[in-house]
Amino acid sequence: MRAFDIEQIRADFPILHQQINGQPLVYLDNAASSQKPLQVIEAVDHYYRTDNANVHRGVHRLSQRATDAFEASRSTVRDYLNASSDREIVFVRGATEAINLVAQSFVRPMIVEGDEILISHLEHHANIVPWQMLCEQTGAQLKVIPMTDTGELDLTQIDELLNSRTKILSIGHVSNALGTVNPVKMLTEKARAKGIPVLIDGAQAVPHLQVDVQALDCDFYVFSGHKLFAPTGIGVLYGRQQLLEAMPPYQGGGDMILSVSFSGTIYNELPYKFEAGTPHIAGAIGLAAAIDYIQQFGMEVLAAHEHHLLDLATAKLQAMDGVRIIGTAKEKASVLSFMIDGVHPHDVGTIFDQQGVAIRTGHHCAQPVMEYFDIPATARASFAFYNSEQEVDALVAAIKKTQELFG
Ligand code: PMP
Repeated sequence: MRAFDIEQIRADFPILHQQINGQPLVYLDNAASSQKPLQVIEAVDHYYRTDNANVHRGVHRLSQRATDAFEASRSTVRDYLNASSDREIVFVRGATEAINLVAQSFVRPMIVEGDEILISHLEHHANIVPWQMLCEQTGAQLKVIPMTDTGELDLTQIDELLNSRTKILSIGHVSNALGTVNPVKMLTEKARAKGIPVLIDGAQAVPHLQVDVQALDCDFYVFSGHKLFAPTGIGVLYGRQQLLEAMPPYQGGGDMILSVSFSGTIYNELPYKFEAGTPHIAGAIGLAAAIDYIQQFGMEVLAAHEHHLLDLATAKLQAMDGVRIIGTAKEKASVLSFMIDGVHPHDVGTIFDQQGVAIRTGHHCAQPVMEYFDIPATARASFAFYNSEQEVDALVAAIKKTQELFG
């Protein structure tokens, strides 16, 4: 185990050491995408310098090395999520693609008009739109678990919402807009007790919590590598083997077949059945390097530091006049959404940028959450383990500067 030393950790992230508008960069947009440590950059670089070739098809040395590294990455992910087999780990482009895959390959064949799909009011658009599309295609209905003023799920009607018409519960683990940690284990238990399959959107959870898919007992778990300190364009669909076996392929092409003739095609075994075309080999290798990086410290250690930053920032913002925090759930992970009285969040973002502070402003691809609070957008600071207490001070200073400029 490597000791948690914030200066040493920051030294691993080259991008953090630059000036923006003459100020040191303070990167607080981690919920949108995270930065990459040297270990990830070097793993990708090493792959392209020494092993680059297409996987699974070649007998030559480079292809074998590329295949070994790609499949070793799958094992690293399997181990990290505590899935029971490598066959349950499908490499995809990201959480969005994984949800679309499950909607079309798992739910579509078994859903008919009048059936229901259950999501929540807190979802990212990636966990809303694929289901709306499926509803349009099949006449099924989208049902929504409501939310409360604190930005938590309102579970008073959950027993009725999970009913005999429900074909899937698809629920976010952590809200990207507010940081709320949802009680996914309890919801999974409830759903599965009624025979309802469960997908968990872990895009915002995997960077902040240790996830164990067997302990959660969910059927599908999805996330994107780029939020977990890995490259963009690589993500993971975990699926229970029995379910994946029974599902038809999502896309057709190379790698997902065993044999093709004009009279018919025999599909490949898991997980390749769902990996049509040349995969993002370097991305998978980078993802494994990112997981190895996290495991040097242990996720609990990193999460404890992030929690400390979130608590510190929350207390400081609560103490400021004219600042309102949106989303005050009891259990939160790394996200602080806020409004500054009299200033549009987009102006907040622009003034912050002049101070070198990178935050996200907008609806965060969660427009129903904005509608609930009757606001067009929020300013959102989101922390990673490489952020420091000084950066929380920079956030506070940027808010003060914004308030000064807007009188
Ligand atoms: N779900 C949540 C909760 C997210 O935060 C995001 C990314 N903002 C996604 C899904 C979609 O991830 P991607 O765009 O990487 O597919």
